[in-house]
Amino acid sequence: MSKWVYLYNEVKEVEKRAGGSWDGVKSIVGGKGAGLMDMTRANVPVPPFFTVTTEACNAYQKAGKFPAGLWEQELTALKAIEKKTGKKFGDKKNPLLVSCRSGAKFSMPGMMNTILNIGLTDVVAEGMIKETGNDRFVWDSYRRLVEMFGTVVMDIEDEAFEHPLASFKEKKGYKLDIEMRAEDWKEVVGIYKEAYKQACGQEFPQDPNKQLALATEAVFKSWNGKRAVAYRRKEGISDTLGTAVNICTMVFGNMGDDCATGVAFTRNPSTGEKVMMGEYLLNAQGEDVVAGIRNADEVANLKKYMPKAYKQFMEITARLEKHYTDMQDVEFTIERGTLWMLQTRVGKRTAKAAVKIAVDMANEGLITRDQAVQRVTPDQVDALLHPQFDDAAMNLAEKEGKFLAKGVNASPGAAVGQIYFDADKAEQYAKEHKQDTIMVRPFTKPDDVHGMIAAKGVLTSEGGATSHAAVVARQFGIPCVVGASAIKIDLEKRVMHVGETVLNEGDWISVDGTTGKVFAGKIPTSEPSLEEQKELMTLLKWADEISARKNVREEVRPGYPTRGLQVWANADYPKDARRARSYGAVGIGLCRTEHMFFEPERLPIVQRMILAESSEARTDALNLLLPHQRKDFDGLFEAMDGFPVIIRLIDPPLHEFMPDEEKLMEEVITMHVKGETEGLEEKEKLLAAVKGMHESNPMMGLRGVRLSISMPEIVEMQVRAIFEAAADCTLRGVKVKPEIMIPLTGTVKELEWIQPRLERIGKAVMSEKKVKFAYKFGTMIEIPRAAVTADHIATKAQFFSFGTNDLTQMTFGYSRDDAERNFLITYVQEGILVKNPFQTLDRNGVGKLMKNAIFEGRAARPELEVGICGEHGGDPESIEWCHMIGNNYVSCSPFRVPVARLAAAHAALNHMPVKKAVTKKPAAKKPVKKVVKKAVKKVAKKK
Ligand code: ADP
Ligand code: MG
Ligand code: MG
Repeated sequence: MSKWVYLYNEVKEVEKRAGGSWDGVKSIVGGKGAGLMDMTRANVPVPPFFTVTTEACNAYQKAGKFPAGLWEQELTALKAIEKKTGKKFGDKKNPLLVSCRSGAKFSMPGMMNTILNIGLTDVVAEGMIKETGNDRFVWDSYRRLVEMFGTVVMDIEDEAFEHPLASFKEKKGYKLDIEMRAEDWKEVVGIYKEAYKQACGQEFPQDPNKQLALATEAVFKSWNGKRAVAYRRKEGISDTLGTAVNICTMVFGNMGDDCATGVAFTRNPSTGEKVMMGEYLLNAQGEDVVAGIRNADEVANLKKYMPKAYKQFMEITARLEKHYTDMQDVEFTIERGTLWMLQTRVGKRTAKAAVKIAVDMANEGLITRDQAVQRVTPDQVDALLHPQFDDAAMNLAEKEGKFLAKGVNASPGAAVGQIYFDADKAEQYAKEHKQDTIMVRPFTKPDDVHGMIAAKGVLTSEGGATSHAAVVARQFGIPCVVGASAIKIDLEKRVMHVGETVLNEGDWISVDGTTGKVFAGKIPTSEPSLEEQKELMTLLKWADEISARKNVREEVRPGYPTRGLQVWANADYPKDARRARSYGAVGIGLCRTEHMFFEPERLPIVQRMILAESSEARTDALNLLLPHQRKDFDGLFEAMDGFPVIIRLIDPPLHEFMPDEEKLMEEVITMHVKGETEGLEEKEKLLAAVKGMHESNPMMGLRGVRLSISMPEIVEMQVRAIFEAAADCTLRGVKVKPEIMIPLTGTVKELEWIQPRLERIGKAVMSEKKVKFAYKFGTMIEIPRAAVTADHIATKAQFFSFGTNDLTQMTFGYSRDDAERNFLITYVQEGILVKNPFQTLDRNGVGKLMKNAIFEGRAARPELEVGICGEHGGDPESIEWCHMIGNNYVSCSPFRVPVARLAAAHAALNHMPVKKAVTKKPAAKKPVKKVVKKAVKKVAKKK
């Protein structure tokens, strides 16, 4: 018979079953169960418990009922717990109460259900009162059970219990739950049982076993609850994992003022600082702290009230952090001065905290630098470079009286948006109306998560740093301010008041999760600087060191790189190049020269050049452009002193530089109608010329190398400008490495035609200026034919750069400009495409073309330099592929460079050749998210 249930002290057996892997243990008993078992083994005080496996959950999902043997095994395990605790389930004299807790492999905080105080019935309550002499505690526990059981197991609306309690308190003139006395709670139990009966037509069950069975089933079911499913989608967690169920002896934080319950992080999850951050409530139970029902006190203050328990708590949490070598998120309860640990898990954190904690822990010697690099995700690096409000703008807003309130800075970042007072609206206006929304609530609940995810920011008037809103926002990187108590929200009238100011739904506000400040209206944002983020700079330096390590790649064939990827940037102007350098780029992979043609002083000359009727007239116009281009390149070389700069010769069809045909036509007609003659003839000539340039498929028409062959003067001028600038720089002592890139090659014959002419110009300039420097001529690989004939192309081209935007467009035959609008989204939704191939490289098609092109290209020319300059160069998954197939570098927008540096290091660490690796294989537990993504990928592949 299958073993569905494991006792608290059976961790060895689970490990055996999992083949010794801790990840496997988590798969079987869930993250919470694994943590509880592990703590028990380490003699951390954990109340006795047993765990129902995820397999049991999956079997239940399939059959719609408990698998054979499960219930019997639960009862047997319950006996063992009774023996251990000396209490009995359902007993009048010395009753055992238990909690029934969800716990999947990957923690999904607040997404599934937990029921406390199971085993309480009318009879048991009486017995407990006699036993403890504490009737307030017993009735408080009982009313919690009826409410939790009602809402979770029987699906009764929260309001069915919340409303009667609120009116009861109002009648009594109470504000807070702590004012409630024993007889009050007793009365409430009666009211709740009545409400329960009203709502589901049955009495609240008085059989403890029935309570337990139904609770187990309800936790199983919560795996498929709406919010759990939404959460898994967002986090990329597979639906097939299932949840475990932990049945755990109750310990009570609500027996009096020598009792407490709380949650804490071993380091600050918002900033990463190495200080315990947590909150507790005296005389409370469960997640009262998280629910924000009462204002909780900082854990540090517990020292005053319960010094012994506090000391023990600090010792245990320090040990846990060391054991798991990561920041822990713990839940605890103190019952009459005795500490009990109820959960430990790797804590969720902001991007900022992730970086700081990783770097600190490596410096503390807790983890290796490689592990530190692996602990941070590319998305987190990205988040740190996202816009923030700048101080000046905030000061100004304050002076202008736009300051509204200050709350707890729960999750950093700037959010500007229109306010909505519930999750559905925040989501609806974001999705359907494409608005930037801010979700504003008194506090949030698990049911609100979809609105939070859709919103740009979250603001609550209640709750603290560990409240639900704060935890969820941090996890998703949503800027969030909580507990801004100056804000009074009227959910019925759908307005919020701050002093005199009244804001309606749809009004704009600015929320600064970094400082906790909230402003009316829109405040401008600015880019944060990388240089000021010391820990991030350190982490990226470590990432670069990993990528630069020898033998992180195998030399597939002579010439293949054995180090990891370099990161270059796409930059057209010197200022972009400087930013790229400061962000850590070590080359320019794409400088688009045509952008420079659009500048107002140049465009008329460009048009004249295009319209020229003779080669001389064209050359005259080009001679006017030459000094401009030379200056552009000079600035680039100077900014990239010593690093390679790839300059792409003119690529787009010429009509892009001409006035719009329809507009011209209109103007000509208008002039005719009005009888104006001045300039008419010129306009008509221009119109005729533009008409003559019309193409049905301009993207596949006269552009790239084709244009250069039919009109070589332009690229001849460009090459001259490049070489003259390079020569001038060399003479000034700037080190240059120009690489000239010919776009849109489809056959080597094109290169054979154009390249020698250009090389001659280069040589001529060098001898005119009497300088020498190294240079390269190469091509973009963006037409499938070029990829397929790479061995031929490489006989001429000294480097390849994959232009994956066009290569994707032409390999799929999808028009990039129309596909997204017309059918790509449907394709992704229907699973015809796993991802948008313009965002993430299609490994099986486009990626395979690339792989072959590199292999064959290096057969013809082993030292062939290979890069990528399409949009994919900044996408982590695509970067990984580039690493795997032997690119020398990836090139992306300057803003993505830090992200790409981290992604390149991850690729190196995740694909170390088995034998040759120079460093010891890190005993890395991969960051949870990574593992999840992989699992998802695997599942996706299987499909
Ligand atoms: P979640 O996964 O949502 O955190 P938990 O299963 O951890 O749910 O339960 C939530 C809270 O309920 C815990 O943090 C703890 O305060 C309380 N709790 C759960 N089990 C017990 C127990 N056996 N004794 C006392 N409190 C408990
Ligand atoms: Mg919790
Ligand atoms: Mg918990």
